Amino acid sequence: MRKRILVTNDDGIHAAGIQQLAKALEAHFDVWVVAPDREQSARSHALTLHRPLRLIPNGSQRFAVDGTPADSVYLGVTHILSGKVDLIVSGINHGPNLGDDVAYSGTVSAAMEGVFMGIPAFAISLAGRDPFDFSLAAEFARSLALRLLENPLIGRTFLNVNVPGRPRQEVLGARTTRLGHRRYRYAVEEKTDPRGRRYYWIGGDELDFQDLEGSDGNAVRDGFISVTPLATDLTDHKMLGTLEWLDESF
Ligand code: MN
Repeated sequence: MRKRILVTNDDGIHAAGIQQLAKALEAHFDVWVVAPDREQSARSHALTLHRPLRLIPNGSQRFAVDGTPADSVYLGVTHILSGKVDLIVSGINHGPNLGDDVAYSGTVSAAMEGVFMGIPAFAISLAGRDPFDFSLAAEFARSLALRLLENPLIGRTFLNVNVPGRPRQEVLGARTTRLGHRRYRYAVEEKTDPRGRRYYWIGGDELDFQDLEGSDGNAVRDGFISVTPLATDLTDHKMLGTLEWLDESF
């Protein structure tokens, strides 16, 4: 029996990245695609609880969802595949998901949703710009899936992969990394709509990332595929035991 993989993303089911990912995985696995019907980047872990969702068949074992990446995993695992999923792969994102990006990323949150449901998962992003060449990332995803199914991660850990956006002969290998810190230009555009009311458009360019030894950003900058193990537990364990004054303050 071939292992079953649920593929999703946050760029929408028609994006080139998810199509190349599914194609690469089909060589070895029973691939099901459940993904948003349109781009849902930066939707993080949002679930749609206040309106119904529609499933739109999009070919054999392919379904579009008019919701978020996390909705897609939820519906895919619980309803379409009745829990019978061996691995969830999310991506290939059009652009990087490095450092603090993971807090906003729909790609990463879809993988995390899988882990919440007890299914191993990884997210994969191409840290380049248009025009994207997904071939190396797709190959890496396939070999990582094969290896992960043989050597499962322990506990509620999942992987965040970023592949450098450079020609494959200039990619030097893979490295395990920690999350770094990306810096953005915090920008707000204020404009006036046709009815004379002001509106605001948020989101500035990425400036750079901090130069941090061992970080995902450094690995990608230096030409390596970055693989960061992510925990779902946001507790700052080193702070436990240092906040006794809080216990006494009521
Ligand atoms: Mn995206």
